[in-house]
Amino acid sequence: MVDYHIHTVRCGHASGEVAEYVRRAQELSLAEIGFADHLPLVIGMKDPTLAMRHEELDDYIAEIEALKTQFPGIIIKTGIEADYFPGYEQATRDLLSRYPFDYVIGSVHFIEGWGFDDSRYIDGYKTRDIFDIYKAYYELLEAAARTGLFDIIGHIDLVKKYGFVPEQDVTTLVGKALGAIHDAGMCVEINTAGLRKPVGEIYPGSEILKRCFENGIPITFGSDAHAPGEVGMAFERACAVAGQAGYDMFATFAGRVRSFKALARK
Ligand SMILES: [Zn+2]
Ligand SMILES: [Zn+2]
Repeated sequence: MVDYHIHTVRCGHASGEVAEYVRRAQELSLAEIGFADHLPLVIGMKDPTLAMRHEELDDYIAEIEALKTQFPGIIIKTGIEADYFPGYEQATRDLLSRYPFDYVIGSVHFIEGWGFDDSRYIDGYKTRDIFDIYKAYYELLEAAARTGLFDIIGHIDLVKKYGFVPEQDVTTLVGKALGAIHDAGMCVEINTAGLRKPVGEIYPGSEILKRCFENGIPITFGSDAHAPGEVGMAFERACAVAGQAGYDMFATFAGRVRSFKALARK
């Protein structure tokens, strides 16, 4: 198994030393991990609790390189989680192109500047229509996929995080996003962080995961760990849901080139 979604203290809302994350992965016998901390926000938003600062990016890369030497017994990849901001595609492309990432996770955490997955701004769900939120979210996801900037879509149904579900059917919206993800040759991650959130579900839920499989979209795995103890969290369950959806392979990345490994069924 791989855990491709691991954060570091640089983002301002994670804890622990990077070596502790690696040790935890080794305790769990993970063959491979990848750090994917939050890329500096290209929109110039200055909130030190959301992402690393631009001047920290070099150190982030260097720290992961040092870990590879320090821990030769486990494969360690250099990833990044980049936000999709419409209108900032070129700035994002320029920033990403400066570093030798193994993979880039593209995530939508903002709807017109509203950090909808941030507990500080949860009141936003009271002042907006839930279906409108879902519609805006999946349209952003579709647009994110169409940029071709990313290899993996992060926590694809993050919009369910606080348990708000629209009454209207979102099948078509999700389907359009999945079509774009497929066309872009991207993967989705099975992200176990949702189990630690109010929704109490893996991202994506079983229905969307099944549709990913039907659409020929590959998967990879991520815990979205923001603390060493969260590395590889609930991966047996993640593996089981992948198998139930029909998957028998998962994707790994090196230098932004994808390969596949057999999924061990338990
Ligand atoms: Zn984070
Ligand atoms: Zn994220």
